[in-house]
Amino acid sequence: MADFYDILGISKSATAAEIKKAYRKKAIEFHPDKNPGDETAEENFKKAAEAYETLSDQQKKARYDQLGHQAYTSGGAGGFGGGGGFGGMDMDDIFSQFGDIFGGGGFSGFGGGGGFGSGGRRRVKGKDLRIRVSLTLEEAAVGVEKKVKVKRKKQAPGVTYKTCTTCGGSGQVTRIQNTILGRMQTSAPCNVCGGAGQTMDKKPAGADAQGLVIDEETVSIKIPAGVETDMRLKVSGKGNEAPGNGISGDLLVDIEVKEHAELQREGNNLHFDLYVSVPEAVLGTTKEIQTVTGKVRIPIEAGIQSGKILRLRGKGMPNVNGYATGDLLVHVNVWTPRNLSRDQKEFFESMMADSHFEPAPEKGDKSFFEKVKDMFS
Ligand code: ZN
Repeated sequence: MADFYDILGISKSATAAEIKKAYRKKAIEFHPDKNPGDETAEENFKKAAEAYETLSDQQKKARYDQLGHQAYTSGGAGGFGGGGGFGGMDMDDIFSQFGDIFGGGGFSGFGGGGGFGSGGRRRVKGKDLRIRVSLTLEEAAVGVEKKVKVKRKKQAPGVTYKTCTTCGGSGQVTRIQNTILGRMQTSAPCNVCGGAGQTMDKKPAGADAQGLVIDEETVSIKIPAGVETDMRLKVSGKGNEAPGNGISGDLLVDIEVKEHAELQREGNNLHFDLYVSVPEAVLGTTKEIQTVTGKVRIPIEAGIQSGKILRLRGKGMPNVNGYATGDLLVHVNVWTPRNLSRDQKEFFESMMADSHFEPAPEKGDKSFFEKVKDMFS
């Protein structure tokens, strides 16, 4: 399977400028205007855009380099569009994100560099909006619904649109262009309506050139259990509205899961540092453990060693795709006392000579570990 570097024909050490240049070259080669009706070219055009989308973003590139192609494109947040927005790009996405790479082409009017359908009227799409939503680890563990206020552009009350007189509503005009690809006869978006096939008829006071006004709206976002920082959710249709009969953009929600004071996350597993005193370690006890769904008490066996890891099955984070739940790993630390009183010091001194206190590690620890595992499975 070709990785993103192969797709763009570059080496892993390529600079940002080289990546951009390589993408531009591929985009021109496979551009739909140059390859009308060629599905393979369209597929290659999309692949190049996906490769560029990841490699042009430092964070995504680092993650990609770390995980490898297979894991990056199939893993993580696969359930809703991929780790950090990978996958499922359509032509509109590509042109709205990377339109500038074509050198600020002649698209004007409504969509402002938006995409195009397979001939005929262009589907004008409102701009996607982005927000960042922050949640606690506890919220991420069970899923949560968040209400956020979003400032979206909407069609102004009273605005009307009419069929474009220049293109007769088709959104396309045929023209001869001198382009970077040479002299081409193209069916280009109408530059009066921007390809929408419609222009504004009546503009209400306060509306912008597209007949839109900014409106604050409360949007409810369902966040599934198991999300991680930098995952992205998409709320369809909650971006800016488009003028005329265009479709609304989407609201892209970047997730941030806050650090927890006591629990450390590693994928779906959680880690907890448990401290026990020397007498507790010697005599055994029960201890209260913080989990993401409340507290649980666990037994600490007499003679437990520092460094022992107790596994509480299923007490970790759920997988965002809904299968399996991680574990909570409790790391046992025996706390050695400092600043002893004279009596305490004498007590430990008297133990120094006792051979029973000599360390004598055994392999038998494993059986205890298994026992604890069984206890919670
Ligand atoms: Zn027109």
